Amino acid sequence: MLKIGAHLSSSKGFLAMGEMAESIGANTFQFFTRNPRGSKAKAIDPEDAKALIDFMEKKQFAKVLAHAPYTLNPCSAKPETREFAHLTMEDDLKRMEYLPGNLYNFHPGSHVGQGSEAGIGQIVTLLNAILSEELTTTVLLETMSGKGTEIGRNFEELRRIIDGVDLHEKMGVCLDTCHVYDAGYDIVHHLDEVLEEFDQIVGLDRLKAIHLNDSKNPFESHKDRHEKIGEGSIGLEAMVRIINHPKLKHLPFFLETPNELPGYKEEITLLRGRYE
Ligand code: FE
Ligand code: FE
Ligand code: ZN
Repeated sequence: MLKIGAHLSSSKGFLAMGEMAESIGANTFQFFTRNPRGSKAKAIDPEDAKALIDFMEKKQFAKVLAHAPYTLNPCSAKPETREFAHLTMEDDLKRMEYLPGNLYNFHPGSHVGQGSEAGIGQIVTLLNAILSEELTTTVLLETMSGKGTEIGRNFEELRRIIDGVDLHEKMGVCLDTCHVYDAGYDIVHHLDEVLEEFDQIVGLDRLKAIHLNDSKNPFESHKDRHEKIGEGSIGLEAMVRIINHPKLKHLPFFLETPNELPGYKEEITLLRGRYE
């Protein structure tokens, strides 16, 4: 059974997201832990969290993926911006324990001219401060397209972050198909080789989720603009190879394509129909 979901609005609460996911044929979903631009998080309703856990069990959902606000910058040159990322992510991880054993994804950030070495060091410092033995969540670094001074533009940078984290068993990677294609990994013509490279550098056992997005821009553009499945430079057939690849097909796939619910439902139906 293909594990597939889409990015959903979290404004109506946990159980509502589970039901919304089911209504579009999904068996998982992604959501923002809080307003992606702002800082304020709604108080968690433990009953609602419990209701989602029961719902997910009954419907045999795959793990869900929480996404940190994309405005955080864990490797900003400004200490107060790094501190804000630290406090927000620390709070997110506390909140995630209401849904134990799921996934939390964040963008490593932009080093803004400090250099990748310094940036990676700051990300490692932050992770070492917020990870703890008791945590049941797996924290994922997202592969980035390499626009500007983004960290995570290649597999080596992700590996260097993971290597610096004391509790590295809590860490994994979320591979975004649009981002890696824009970054210069040719998943259209050389998927096997890209996965081999990922395995050599990061280890495929670290790969915990896929963001399944087509790209509005050409290969190696370092842009990061998502397109609907089959309407971008990656194309439907490459997407079908990705969801069916023996090294990937067990993973949960999350659509972050420019769609409302009906569009997501169509993409999920399309991809389910091509899953072997
Ligand atoms: Fe993301
Ligand atoms: Fe993504
Ligand atoms: Zn993106």
